[in-house]
This record gives sequence, C-alpha cells and structure tokens, in this order.
Amino acid sequence: MKIHHLNCGSFCAIGHPILNRLLPKLDQFNLVCHCLLIESSDGLILVDTGLGLKDISNQERFKSNFIFNQFARPKLDVEETAYMQIIRKGFNPKDVRHIIATHFDSDHIGGIADFPDAIVHVLKDEWDAAHNPVSPKEKLRYSPSRWQMNTFFETYSTQGDSWNGLGKVQKLKGISEPIYMVSLPGHTRGHSGILIEDGKNTLFTGDSFLLEAQLLKKPYAVAVNLYNQLTHDNPTKAEETLNKIRVIHTQDRDLLILSSHDPVLFRRSLEQEETEK
Ligand SMILES: [Zn+2]
Repeated sequence: MKIHHLNCGSFCAIGHPILNRLLPKLDQFNLVCHCLLIESSDGLILVDTGLGLKDISNQERFKSNFIFNQFARPKLDVEETAYMQIIRKGFNPKDVRHIIATHFDSDHIGGIADFPDAIVHVLKDEWDAAHNPVSPKEKLRYSPSRWQMNTFFETYSTQGDSWNGLGKVQKLKGISEPIYMVSLPGHTRGHSGILIEDGKNTLFTGDSFLLEAQLLKKPYAVAVNLYNQLTHDNPTKAEETLNKIRVIHTQDRDLLILSSHDPVLFRRSLEQEETEK
C-alpha cells in the first residue's frame, strides 16, 4: 500500500472581504482540500475527492451554498482536481475502484462524478442526512447533483465503541487492505474518519478539526471557532469527538492524525511522501 497526498482544492476560509476588513489577519487562512490516493491490491482508492471537473467548468454549482461560496472562496483550478493529478502521476482515472467519503459536503465529494465506476463508501447516517436533511444546516449543505452521476454506493452502520471509544466499520466491501471507517460525528450527522493500519498508522479525520492547533489545544484565532459554529451540524458533538481524538493522540504518538483543510499538516505529509520515494 502506498499513500499519495493530494490537495484537491485550495481555498481561503473565512476570506469574506467584510470579515477581512474587520479582522485583517484572517486572510492568512489559505486552506487545502487534503485527499489521499492509495495504491493498493484492491486498485486505486481515493479518500475524499475534493473539488471535481464539474465544479471548475460550472462554477454556478457553488451559488446555492452561501457559506461555502462567501467564506471559502475556492480557487477553482482544474489542475488541482483529483482526476488531473491522477493522470499527472501516470495512473488511469478508470483504475480508481473505491472512494471512501468522510462526508457528503461539496468540498469533499465534488469530484466523485469524475469516477462514475468507483464504489463510494459512506456511513449510513451520512447517507440518510444527505437524502433526508433535517436541520437547517443539513438542508443548506447537501447538493444531490454532486452524487447523482454515481451508481455504486455502499453504506455502513457503526455499532458500539470498537476502536478507542469510536464506532468502527470492520470490513469495507471489496477492500481487503486494513482500511476502516470510524465514526466521528458532529461536523455532519454521519461524518467519519478513515483509519489506515499499515504499520505507520494514519487516522484521516476529515473536518473534525480545521487546524492542528485545535488538536494540540494550542492558541488559535477565535475566527476558527466562528468557522466551526457555522459549519458543524452539531458543535457540541463535534467538540466531544475532537476530545476523543485528542485522547487518542496523547495515548498513541506514533499515529499520524490528519485533517482535511490544514495546510501545514498537508505540507508535512507531502514532504514525508517525498522522502519515502
Ligand atoms: Zn471540508
């Protein structure tokens, strides 16, 4: 198994011009959409897709998502799509057999339509939230056009606490490698992390935290809390989940914990990948 780190969408969170005038330092948050491309015995596996070709060619797709459009200011560069990066790495996009989605926000599954033959794996709670949104935030965040081109989905329930106090899917259909989904609710109803146990283990936590400083409980801009309040479906549950991740981090320092949008964690992962070549 080999893990490639891809940035499939640069954007400037909390980059709204009015906020930047009030709090000029906010413009420094140039964030990424960190995705994983895994070479495995089960073919190519993507963990999230970031933004896709249709997001770039039809920028109207973001018009309905006020929070994302106003506060994220996506760069929308076709060269950042997973599809184009996979080709640049010398692979065939048709060889992407599986996509494991942390959740169904547009910045995480914008590119799944670029891989229509892949099986999309998602927790059942997230599937239900996306198809039957209940809260005002759920009604705002999901865009069925993102996944309507795909036909192969597998959904999973997580029962009990089977990994460090978190629900874990023991077996992903069609994937024999030690890759698991773990329930990390809060950001969305069925938000999940992806656990890769390949010796130097990795926990990809999606949007459970924005910046590493939150994980380490180091000082960070108050604007990050504002961002969390705006984007977490259930901020209280998200904080409970983050506290569990913090405990795991203190108990297992060898576990590499990643998040979707932290540019520093992404750069560090990329440097590590370069040294392992
Ligand atoms: Zn996100």
